[in-house]
Amino acid sequence: MTDMTVIPSIGAALPATPFHARHLIGGVWQDSADGAVSERVSPSHGVVVSRAAKGGKTEAEAAIAAARAAFDDGRWSGLTGKARAAVLLRVADLIEANVERMALLETLESGKPITQSRGEVSGAADLWRYTAALARGVAGESHNALGGDMLAVTLKEPIGVVSIITPWNFPFWILSQKLPFALAAGCCCVVKPSELTPSTTVMLGELLTKAGMPDGVVNIVLGYGHPVGAVLAADPRVDMVTFTGSTGVGRAIAAAASGTLKKVALELGGKNPQVIFPDADLDSAADAVVFGVYFNVGQCCNSGSRIIVHADIAEAFTAKVVDLSRKVAFGDPLDPNTQVGAIVSAEHGAKIDGYVQSAKAAGAKVVLGGGALTVPGLGAQFYQPTVVTGVTPDMAIARDEVFGPVLTVLTFTTLDEALHLVNDADYGLSAGVWSENVHTCLTFARGAQAGTVWTNTWMDGFPEVTFGGVKQSGLGREIGRQGLEEFLETKSLVMRIGRTRA
Ligand code: NAD
Repeated sequence: MTDMTVIPSIGAALPATPFHARHLIGGVWQDSADGAVSERVSPSHGVVVSRAAKGGKTEAEAAIAAARAAFDDGRWSGLTGKARAAVLLRVADLIEANVERMALLETLESGKPITQSRGEVSGAADLWRYTAALARGVAGESHNALGGDMLAVTLKEPIGVVSIITPWNFPFWILSQKLPFALAAGCCCVVKPSELTPSTTVMLGELLTKAGMPDGVVNIVLGYGHPVGAVLAADPRVDMVTFTGSTGVGRAIAAAASGTLKKVALELGGKNPQVIFPDADLDSAADAVVFGVYFNVGQCCNSGSRIIVHADIAEAFTAKVVDLSRKVAFGDPLDPNTQVGAIVSAEHGAKIDGYVQSAKAAGAKVVLGGGALTVPGLGAQFYQPTVVTGVTPDMAIARDEVFGPVLTVLTFTTLDEALHLVNDADYGLSAGVWSENVHTCLTFARGAQAGTVWTNTWMDGFPEVTFGGVKQSGLGREIGRQGLEEFLETKSLVMRIGRTRA
């Protein structure tokens, strides 16, 4: 039994038949040449949600060839920015019109709460809308101080064919952090979604066709990391690979891409600290900690899973967080009241539990949760909101990305000590600071090794604001103006004005 807030199955009607997901290659929807299929069973509802073509080397290479041909004949890169923007805006409208359909499949395939899937899909539509403006603003610079007879300008050109490989935790959002930015730049793409969550990517392919995207500009290949992802990373006809996923796979992709020295952009894992000072607005900080660790069932690169609390307030603040955690509603992801849904797979649930049990064995204290839970009418693929105290920096639970609804608590006494704990990590995706003192916040922000520092807030994101990680959290940046620049190559054009001989 648990004293937590559990939402049993609401018995919602599920789709009558599984979604049929196929490859999109050169504008043609197709199954795999060998007929291979993989089924996705919903982690929350136990039904087959989708049946997806399972691609191999043949499909991956055909998709690359289609993207290469589309790029080389200029059917997309040759359009004006205005014409590309018009298509991107139509896609944004179509996504908005399909939020419910897409959110349902996103939730059933991933296990995340339906309200979060709706937010993910409609937020992604805004990314598409934002990139329409970028498409019209592709521009280089001019050099005007090279002497009276010289002029140099930089041209910004699309990098070419881009492979896009995405994970299961925010399938549609992450795709939309990459694809519309690459398209705004004029690139042609091959997309491979996670084998666990292929459907919303395929639905997007349908919307792209409706929006008038020329054939071959966006190709979708379904399947596993091996062989599909590996081919997309290594093939010499691909100019850039952009990947979001685990740090281990990111390394494998960088190695595969190194054979042709193509550009590599990586958005990888995180072990993100939130540092709480005694002068902070502690109620707001506690709300943000609870949101930050349980959002998307904690399966979030930005999970604020490592709180570092000043020793003077550690006990009271932890009690506040535990109290709020108990009230977090978890259970049926289709219930709009649910805040924490199912874990993506049984293996992943076991991995999460392994971290909690090993911390316990090493002397840490599990003050809340700490195990799987059966939700009435659904099953056991749910992990309780969990808080672990007495954690030391050397424990695996304090260093590795647990990727579940598990919060660890460490303590500090000085700003320097807090920064040392923050930076004593392989990752550097994001970090947070809570204090009413501007000096504390700014000193922290400058000292923290992270791609994003949130101050008195957590996980706010905007299409305009660039995102990415340092250290082993990644290479390159996404979103914002820089999210476009990543897909552009710079060419220098140096001109002599007038004649060489007088
Ligand atoms: P994963 O690395 O297991 O898989 C991601 C994708 O890579 C999938 O499509 C998979 O099929 C493919 N893949 C696997 N092996 C491959 C290979 N050898 N070559 C090419 N492709 C291969 O990641 P996941 O479990 O789907 O996602 C969770 C991870 O993603 C976490 O580590 C999380 O932190 C990270 N993530 C990072 C960000 C960010 O922005 N930094 C955002 C979301 C998720």
